[in-house]
Amino acid sequence: AAQLNPRYTFDNFVIGNGNQFARAASLAVAERPSRAYNPLFLYGGVGMGKTHLMHAIGHEVKRRQPIYNICYVSAEKFTNEMINSLRNDRMTSFRDRFRGVDVLLIDDIQFIAQKERTQEEFFHTFNALHESMKQIVIASDRPPKELAEIEDRLRSRFEWGLIADIQPPDLETKVAILQKKAESEQSVLPTDVALFIASNVRTNVRELEGALVRLIAWCNMNNMEITLQATQQCLKQFIDTQVRKITIEAIQKAVAENFAMRVSELKQRNNSRAVVVPRQIAMYLAKHLTEASLPEIGRQFGGKHHTTVMHSIAKIDEQRRADKDLNRTVNKLQEILNG
Ligand code: ADP
Ligand code: MG
Repeated sequence: AAQLNPRYTFDNFVIGNGNQFARAASLAVAERPSRAYNPLFLYGGVGMGKTHLMHAIGHEVKRRQPIYNICYVSAEKFTNEMINSLRNDRMTSFRDRFRGVDVLLIDDIQFIAQKERTQEEFFHTFNALHESMKQIVIASDRPPKELAEIEDRLRSRFEWGLIADIQPPDLETKVAILQKKAESEQSVLPTDVALFIASNVRTNVRELEGALVRLIAWCNMNNMEITLQATQQCLKQFIDTQVRKITIEAIQKAVAENFAMRVSELKQRNNSRAVVVPRQIAMYLAKHLTEASLPEIGRQFGGKHHTTVMHSIAKIDEQRRADKDLNRTVNKLQEILNG
């Protein structure tokens, strides 16, 4: 049985620049399962609405084709159920179950990285479904080509259909999401309040919603109207802690981790491209996410001159516009650091 969240519908999904392509692709798949794009591969950072869109596909297919068997499952659950079935000698029923669906929605596929047995099982599930013209929708936190620990034959299948990315919402989209969410909670959110929350809670949509839930509860408890003043008061702590948290060390650590290198390498005098780009990104983030001055940033990167720092920042600024992958990496790091 499909375990679909009733709130995660297309109607409740706010369309913005960053998600309109993924949303349109999802709708096309829901309208014509296995005939539009198969598989549909959705990817994007935390809280971008991937799970929401998958559930929306499920609801829409169900509405059009009530007899369709829809299965929404996280890759983690798929893995756990497979392990249980192996242990209890029930692989046949496990296979029948997943190969007998009309639409398989599998979430957070990155979870099966490094899990060979699960990948093998999913490979066969995928083939069985695809061959019998059943729809597969996959969500991931990164594009197929970056799923390094997933075997090639599976990764290449993820690229058979359509790949759609979701980029973080812009300010206006965040405001619209907040207002829609407030509406569904029977609250009215004045625009100045929504703008305040959207521009101060800079992480992801989930955090945004957390701030909103807290605000509504707080105003209810204190018997107050939701005004800008009340919002500033209620969310002060929430926002302050967010700002305080980001340090240059944290940035260096996150960048090094992302590029599978050591923090010390970011500070050394190594000018190979593999080091220069991560270092420039780290400096760029230090400028944008902390209060540190250019000379201070230079110091924390092994004593670089402030003009080098300035040059690095300008370089990333420029390349973000031209290089989509780089832009996504920077966005992802920002998300990680903010959240
Ligand atoms: P992901 O799976 O990409 O991490 P989710 O689908 O769980 O993100 O979304 C996180 C929360 O944000 C959910 O409550 C979801 O409804 C909401 N959300 C994200 N994007 C949108 C959007 N465009 N419109 C409405 N709600 C959204
Ligand atoms: Mg999700």
